[in-house]
Amino acid sequence: NKRVYTFGNGKAEGRSDMKNLLGGKGANLAEMNLIGVPVPAGFTITTDTCTEYNEMGREKMVGLLRSEVKEAMKKVEATMNMEFGSKDNPLLVSVRSGARVSMPGMMDTVLNLGMNDESVLAIAKKAGNDRFAWDSYRRFVQMYGDVVLGMKPESKEDIDPFEQIMDEVKEAKGVENDTDLDVDDLKDLVVKFKAAVKKVTGHDFPVDPWEQLWGAVAAVFDSWMNPRAIYYRQINQIPAEWGTAVNVQAMVFGNMGDNSGTGVAFTRDAATGENIFNGEYLINAQGEDVVAGVRTPQQITKEGSLRWAKLAKVSEEDRATKFPSLEEAMPLAYAELFDVQEKLENYFKDMQDLEFTIQDGKLWMLQTRNGKRTAAAMVKIAMDMLREGMIDEKTAVLRQEPNKLDELLHPVFDMDAMVKANVLATGLPASPGAATGQLVFHADEAGKFPVTILARIETSPEDLEGMDIARGILTARGGMTSHAAVVARGMGKCCVSGAGECKIDAKARTLAAGGMTFKEGDWISLNGSTGDIYEGKIATKDPELSGDFGEIMELADKFRKIDVRTNAETERDAKVAREFGAQGIGLCRTEHMFFEGERLVRMREMILSDDEAGRRIALDKLLPIQRQDFKDVLNTMIGFPVTIRLLDPPLHEFVPHEKENQESMAKEMGVSVDVIKKKVEDLHEFNPMLGHRGCRLGNTYPEITEMQARAILEAALELKAEGKPTFPEIMIPLVGTVKELKMQEKIVRDIADQVFKEKGDKVDYMVGTMIEIPRAALTADEIAEVAQFFSFGTNDLTQMTFGYSRDDAGKFLPVYLKQGILKNDPFQVLDQEGVGQLVHTGIERGRKTNPILKVGICGEHGGEPSSVEFCVKAGMNYVSCSPFRVPIARLAAAQASL
Ligand code: ADP
Ligand code: MG
Ligand code: MG
Repeated sequence: NKRVYTFGNGKAEGRSDMKNLLGGKGANLAEMNLIGVPVPAGFTITTDTCTEYNEMGREKMVGLLRSEVKEAMKKVEATMNMEFGSKDNPLLVSVRSGARVSMPGMMDTVLNLGMNDESVLAIAKKAGNDRFAWDSYRRFVQMYGDVVLGMKPESKEDIDPFEQIMDEVKEAKGVENDTDLDVDDLKDLVVKFKAAVKKVTGHDFPVDPWEQLWGAVAAVFDSWMNPRAIYYRQINQIPAEWGTAVNVQAMVFGNMGDNSGTGVAFTRDAATGENIFNGEYLINAQGEDVVAGVRTPQQITKEGSLRWAKLAKVSEEDRATKFPSLEEAMPLAYAELFDVQEKLENYFKDMQDLEFTIQDGKLWMLQTRNGKRTAAAMVKIAMDMLREGMIDEKTAVLRQEPNKLDELLHPVFDMDAMVKANVLATGLPASPGAATGQLVFHADEAGKFPVTILARIETSPEDLEGMDIARGILTARGGMTSHAAVVARGMGKCCVSGAGECKIDAKARTLAAGGMTFKEGDWISLNGSTGDIYEGKIATKDPELSGDFGEIMELADKFRKIDVRTNAETERDAKVAREFGAQGIGLCRTEHMFFEGERLVRMREMILSDDEAGRRIALDKLLPIQRQDFKDVLNTMIGFPVTIRLLDPPLHEFVPHEKENQESMAKEMGVSVDVIKKKVEDLHEFNPMLGHRGCRLGNTYPEITEMQARAILEAALELKAEGKPTFPEIMIPLVGTVKELKMQEKIVRDIADQVFKEKGDKVDYMVGTMIEIPRAALTADEIAEVAQFFSFGTNDLTQMTFGYSRDDAGKFLPVYLKQGILKNDPFQVLDQEGVGQLVHTGIERGRKTNPILKVGICGEHGGEPSSVEFCVKAGMNYVSCSPFRVPIARLAAAQASL
């Protein structure tokens, strides 16, 4: 059982495809050696050892590793021509964490390990540089104290004891930068640091390099289980079993003087994707200094440096003398770095994020990995590399992270304008995109200025129209699932919710935040992707749906094997979805067409009627309205199928609950308020979601189904007369037994025959059902004898399979997720293990009796990448999702077929 893999001097026992065992860092350090990139020698202890360590503890782990590590260290010593633990020619090493996937900043690294009061002298002598040796020593005591001896404070608020000493020493000396400290100061720091260690831990600082090494190895393994790392794994769904590797590597020194330095670089621009080598470095510095921001980092290329100086308003003279680029300061090392970055990108065939150190003019590479990037860069880099012939079409598609595309579908702030932007407060990033506009405080005033931001304490259903008109929505209260957040996401509109720091006074029409007060008409800006709220007007850019984005989507379509439809009930949503490439509507919810104005009155009239005759009178008035709605929706999808679901929600959702509305309804219908009140009370249900809804409505009040079927078919006939072909699919909701469906189907077909006879013409249509009750999935063979299509309504199916009320799950789901009882919110990510079985069963049994059964999904899951993949593999014909998820589903579906 090999636990240690060495690398160095152009050789390596590992390879880049061994990331599971060696971690990403270790695997790529090995590979860089193999392709002739200069890397300091070292070795990697496997991720499996981390798992062993967690089980057996430090003592036993050291026992298992000792001889292998000693052997590996000998190889490093031979390559570097130094000796670990020697008094005269000491080798110093770094001990670095490195998991399978990069977890930036989550785990710990110790540099300069092997330092003690003797080796520091030898190192000073050898380098002919006292300052460098003592600088390295004080860094080591600090890092070791923080990481291995646990002296780093838990919370950011508490001060690191070492930082505090450092600040005191600098203050006493009256200097700002640590480079201004001289050898005596550094020696003083080492003494003070060690005293702090003794005081806090009760032990002397360990002097034996081997003791230091085992301590650091154990600390890196331990860091896998620190709260930060656990949290990071949770939100990124990284299993705890993976473990981290430990890389022990000969130190190279960027702090040896002005001909040394350290930096990070990207082979392309991680923000825009442009093919421009870029990065930052510091002269006379070590490792983390660049990221930690101890000094202002300098640009690597001259071009980048000039651009930086312009933005930072630094004069050319200052730039060239105080902040020169690496290209200017160390042209030879720069030239080598440029060649190496080119070589690495060509080799790994993806944008690389590099770490390097220059020791006395000589370049060393310390890390390479595929760089993190924005959505725009993700698309551009893949398309550029495809055109450059570096990758093929499939790879370009597979490189896209579907969920990330969301960033590209909404307006964004202009980058140059952002530099000056002042953040007033931060709320929750409820619905992505950028918006700038003039403040209004009431929904019915949303049209008061040409572009507005609607600021409310919270929103309610009456605000819908105003929300639609406003460019962005800001609420002081409410979470990610508040009304404002949910509605805004549905509209694809920028929203920041729950911004508690904003004091909104709707009466006075003022908003106070960040120490300023804004009145109606004042400009503010929102970033719905980050939750930031900005002062003033900031230029925004509309999403660019053509260009590289369009091309990548076309490529995806080339590989995609199933259709992507949209859930839409308004003409506007359907149009947006068409622009995003939807191939039809998978769910058109008819109840949404009854919630306002005249329609709601007629709907109430129908529900509150005493008998069928009364209901028919109201339904006759609803018919032309419905017909026009259907015509509008169908008209946006000419040539594509449109699934229209018959009335689904419990009727009490429509009736007036407030006194005022009950009174006006009483007047409208010519009855007393008490009659209305009584009716409303009668409609009360204990468990409305399991009550009188779905096809149970159509089967108790067949006239509702009759009206809806008629409206759909008449609309289709009218469009046909205009030369526009449509494909309505009439969907019966909440079916649990085949007889329920059969009754509804008969009503629809009888009406169809009547309508066709009346009009003397026909259209093709289908009758099918939602599969959203577990019993329907289990008896799908019977149901498919009647249904021409199935649409899995996985919202209800999840609700009923888990027995979790969707509307009440907020009370326990967060706890379940935190405790790991559930891995994901099953309403967001389809539960393949449980609900997935019902889907498989439903499809299999359904197709047994009806081999040409068309199958799709129309729950929220239809736009969630892992669920889309499941649907493709389960053999569905299409997925359907909200308009703004359509591109994401197109990509996810393509990837599932590759
Ligand atoms: P992280 O994963 O947080 O980036 P790393 O292990 O990569 O941690 O190391 C932190 C910093 O220390 C990086 O800047 C890296 O380049 C530097 N570093 C690590 N090992 C060495 C080494 N052997 N010589 C010089 N610098 C090193
Ligand atoms: Mg690193
Ligand atoms: Mg349902």
